[in-house]
Amino acid sequence: MPRVFSGIQPSGELHIGNYLGAVRNWVQLQDQYECIFSIVDLHAITQPYEPGELSARTLEMAIGLLAAGLDPDKCTIFVQSHVPQHAELMWMFNTVAPLGELERQTQFKDKSSRMESVPAGLLNYPVLQAADILLYRADLVPVGEDQLQHLELSREIARRFNARFGVDFFPEPKPLLTPGTRIMGLDGEAKMSKSLGNTIGVLESPEAIWEKLRPAKTDPARKTRKDPGNPDVCNIYSLHKHFSDGATVTDVATRCRGAAWGCLDCKRVLADNMIAHLAPMRERAAALRDRPERVRAVLEAGAEHCRRLASRTMAEVGRIMGFLPPGM
Ligand code: SF4
Repeated sequence: MPRVFSGIQPSGELHIGNYLGAVRNWVQLQDQYECIFSIVDLHAITQPYEPGELSARTLEMAIGLLAAGLDPDKCTIFVQSHVPQHAELMWMFNTVAPLGELERQTQFKDKSSRMESVPAGLLNYPVLQAADILLYRADLVPVGEDQLQHLELSREIARRFNARFGVDFFPEPKPLLTPGTRIMGLDGEAKMSKSLGNTIGVLESPEAIWEKLRPAKTDPARKTRKDPGNPDVCNIYSLHKHFSDGATVTDVATRCRGAAWGCLDCKRVLADNMIAHLAPMRERAAALRDRPERVRAVLEAGAEHCRRLASRTMAEVGRIMGFLPPGM
C-alpha cells in the first residue's frame, strides 16, 4: 500500500483553515493509504516562539487531530522531535541540498524579509521537510498548490542524493493535491493563519465562534442592508460552501445579490451550521482532555513505530554514505 506522509505545526489551535485545507482530507486518506502524520515541532522553532508554551501547544494539536477524526488504529500520529532521525537525515541532506534553490523558495523570501536577523534554520526548513518525507520513503504527500515548490525541492534532494551516491534508494515523492484548499482568514485578506489572528478554532465554543464571525469582513460593496452584494468576493459565502447544505448556499447567493437580508443574518446562519458541524469534534476533544494519558500513549506508540522505520532508513543511509558502523 502506498505510504503517505504529512505534517502540521503545533500552533496549539487546530483552526478551520487547517481542518478544511488539510486535516479533513487526512481523515479520508487514512482509509486509503498507510498514513504517517507528524506534529512538526522542529519546524515550529524556526519562527519566534515561546518555549514555555511549546509542549502544551503540541499536546493541544494532538487533541485537535484526534478530535477531528484521525484514528490511531488506522494511521500513525507522532511528534517530530520524538524521532531524532529527522534532524540526523536533514544534516546528511544538507550536504546535497542546492543553496541557490533554498534561497529562491517563496516562503523563505517572504518570511526572511520580515526578520532583522535570519536564522539558518529558516533557510534549511525545506531540507528538514525533505528529511521528514524521505525518512519514511513516502510515496505521496498531500499538499496545497502553495506547497508544491517545497515538495519539488524534496524530489530534487532525493534525485541529488541518489545521483551523488550512485543508488536508487530514495523514491521521488509525488504530490497528492488537496482539493479546494486555500481558506481565507476572517479579515478576508490573507490565508487563515494563527500568527495573523484571523482564525476560528475547530474546538472553540459556540459563543466564541459567533464573536469572531460577527465582525468578519464581507463584500465591501454592501455598505448598508439595501446595497446588493456579490457573494463570489465574500469569504463568508466561501465558508457557507463548506458548512451549509446546497440549498442554503443557493439561497445565500440569491439573498445577497438581491439585498434581501443583512450580512449579520447571513453570518448567523453560517455560525449555526458551523457550530453544528463542529459539535462532535468539540465533544471528542473534551473527552480526550479528561484523559491526557490516552493522548500521550497514542503519541508514544506513533513515535516508537516511526523510530523503528527511521532507524532502518538511517542504517542504509550510513552504509550508502560510507560511515564506519558503530561497534566495528
Ligand atoms: S450577504 Fe452574506 S454573502 Fe453577501 S456580502 Fe453579506 S455576508 Fe457576504
